[in-house]
Amino acid sequence: MSLRNELKTEAAKKGFQLFGISDIKELEDTYYPDGRGLMKPSEVMPNAKSVIILGMIIWDEGMNTAVSTAGSGDFSGGDNEYYNLYYEITETRAWRFSKWLHDEKGVDAVPSATIHLKVAAMLAGLGFIGHNTQIITPEYGPRVRWIAVLSTMVLKPDKPFTRNLCAEQEKCRNVSLCVKTCPYKAIITGPSQNVEPGKKVIYDKCVVAHEFDRDLDARWEKHINRIYPRTFKECTLCNLVCPYGKVVDTDVVPVKRGMAK
Ligand code: SF4
Ligand code: SF4
Repeated sequence: MSLRNELKTEAAKKGFQLFGISDIKELEDTYYPDGRGLMKPSEVMPNAKSVIILGMIIWDEGMNTAVSTAGSGDFSGGDNEYYNLYYEITETRAWRFSKWLHDEKGVDAVPSATIHLKVAAMLAGLGFIGHNTQIITPEYGPRVRWIAVLSTMVLKPDKPFTRNLCAEQEKCRNVSLCVKTCPYKAIITGPSQNVEPGKKVIYDKCVVAHEFDRDLDARWEKHINRIYPRTFKECTLCNLVCPYGKVVDTDVVPVKRGMAK
């Protein structure tokens, strides 16, 4: 078995259905907008030689649950607390994968959710950055959450993703379903490529950005999906509507729920 396939197999055992290797140099040179809590690979791990990108299918909306304090709206840290179930799951699994890399391959490895994961996934050939700004994969649409593992292992990068899945999608030919579905008109129509960060999904119009609000305006309440006073099932309407993700409903969910025939 090739090293790549060995790593991919191990990642699958740790709970990641999607696996790819990004070009670390390209990722280092990509544009990192301010105020997003993003870090270049060299800032996370100065001696990193490769970036592995791992994807986990979201097959239950409960995996998008978040707990946040009433604060200033800053997701990148400060005095706020923000816990998101899928972040915790992917990071825990990625640490297990990193430990395996260390124990079995003798390399240093560290997970990161702060490098530019969308660009990393695209560079690794795993998907297209869609009109909703999420990575759209051919296998599961945007119903995937991502994490990277940086390591001192030298790996040949995969080839970047080149298809334009939004342009190929018949159901979005006249109007992008994700743009149309957003109840707050937060998504600007058209491709995400070459659009200044923050100018595609208008941050303040997206309900997720209001999870930290101390006094929530009534108009957000409908789609903030409050479970407990500071616990929310994050809005994913622009994700769920994407036609490429419907395969999760038909093929994955019944198996996970024990309902497959
Ligand atoms: S998460 Fe909800 S509010 Fe935010 S852009 Fe998507 S559909 Fe709109
Ligand atoms: S809903 Fe349509 S336009 Fe939006 S990301 Fe999916 S394929 Fe692209």
